[in-house]
Amino acid sequence: MEKLRSIEELIDALKRLPSIGSKSAERMAFALLNFQQDDLDDLANKISSIKKKVHPCPICGLYTENAICSICNDPERTDELIIVVAKPNDIIGFEQLANFHGRYHVLGGLVGTTSLTKISDLNIDSLIERINKEKTKELIIATNPNIEGETTALYLAKLLEDIPVKVTRIGYGVAMGSQIDYVDSLTLHKSLEGRKEIK
Ligand SMILES: [Zn+2]
Repeated sequence: MEKLRSIEELIDALKRLPSIGSKSAERMAFALLNFQQDDLDDLANKISSIKKKVHPCPICGLYTENAICSICNDPERTDELIIVVAKPNDIIGFEQLANFHGRYHVLGGLVGTTSLTKISDLNIDSLIERINKEKTKELIIATNPNIEGETTALYLAKLLEDIPVKVTRIGYGVAMGSQIDYVDSLTLHKSLEGRKEIK
C-alpha cells in the first residue's frame, strides 16, 4: 500500500502516548479514518481543550477543573495525614480505600539519577509550607518501590529532619520495581498498615 504522509504523521503523533507502540498507533490511525467528520472534530476539540480546563491544584498538585481540588476542599478530611506521591494517578488506589481520610501531595516527579526532573522542579517547597501551616502529623511517602522512589523517600526524610512531622514509608505488599498506579487497593491497604518510620 502507498505510504501516505498524513497517516504516517498521525501514527508518529499517537506513538507519543504511553503504552502505544507502532502497531497500536497504526490501528488507531486507520480506525480514525472510519470516524464521521463530526466525531473527529469532537475528539480533536476534547484533546486540544484539556489543558485549558484541567490544571494542577495549587495546594496538592492533583488535577482539577476548579480553583482548588475536591480533596483539598473537603472539610471531612484531616490535615494531619498526607500521602506523598510522584504523580496524580498514583492516588487512585488509595482513594478506593475506605479507611483513608487524609490528604495528598503530588511531587511531580522523583529524585534520582535517571530522572530528567530536577529537584528544584519538584513540589517540595509547597509540601514544607503545608506541613508548617496545616500542622501535619504524619507524611506517608508512597513513591514507587524502586531506586528513584527510595531515593526520593530518603531525600525527603533528610530534608524534614528538623521539622516536627513523622515521616513513614509504605511497607510490605508493594513489591520492589512495581508501579503504584498499577497496584490494587488491597495491596495498598496492606502497604499502608505496614508502613515504616524513616524519620
Ligand atoms: Zn488539592
